[in-house]
Amino acid sequence: MNDTRLNISEIFRSIQGESSYAGWPCTFIRLAGCSHSCRHCDSLYAKTTEESITTREVLSRALALKTDIIEITGGEPLEQAGVHQLMTELCNTGRKVLLETGGFMPVAGIDHRVHKIIDLKPPSSGESAKNCMENISLAFKAGEELRNSFEFKMVLADRNDYLWARDLLRMQPLQQTCTVLMGVVAGELLPEKLAEWILEDGLRVRMQLQLHKLLWPERTRGA
Ligand code: SF4
Repeated sequence: MNDTRLNISEIFRSIQGESSYAGWPCTFIRLAGCSHSCRHCDSLYAKTTEESITTREVLSRALALKTDIIEITGGEPLEQAGVHQLMTELCNTGRKVLLETGGFMPVAGIDHRVHKIIDLKPPSSGESAKNCMENISLAFKAGEELRNSFEFKMVLADRNDYLWARDLLRMQPLQQTCTVLMGVVAGELLPEKLAEWILEDGLRVRMQLQLHKLLWPERTRGA
């Protein structure tokens, strides 16, 4: 294993709260740094590096937390080149490895064993124009088995965001091929409103609430 250093915000164990793996105990490796400015970012603190440690050390600390699932998140994890080696090393241990990315960078070239949770940022984020639409094409082009390793997540703050998401799904038949997760920005949009709109329009998406925020509403990190 090489000794590339990674900029880390935190490594902790929690309950996976925001994907089709929600509810499972999971170790999170939060890489530091992100060059974007999403309005509803709930991990702004991850823009600052807490420590810079070797891949070997990251792996050792993550494995010590003894969960079957390990998620790499951020910040924007794909902005650090060393993340690819980390993902491969984690996959080699036999753990289920999840990558959560803001969706601005292509996921091409990522170890095929990694389960990719890709944000599609809505207009209220202020960063919607930067969504990497190539990721949708990559999911379509992947074979059936690999396609299951992609899921797309939209976290919506208002009706305008919802209409954007609905129209995107009508143009791109993502919901027929991949899991599409839809949730709300806490405190901005009532979950029951989103549920009504999804049912009215017959969307084939999986609605979710951020489980970690329901469990630990006061925690601002480590959840
Ligand atoms: S990409 Fe993620 S970490 Fe970066 S600003 Fe947006 S929400 Fe925050």
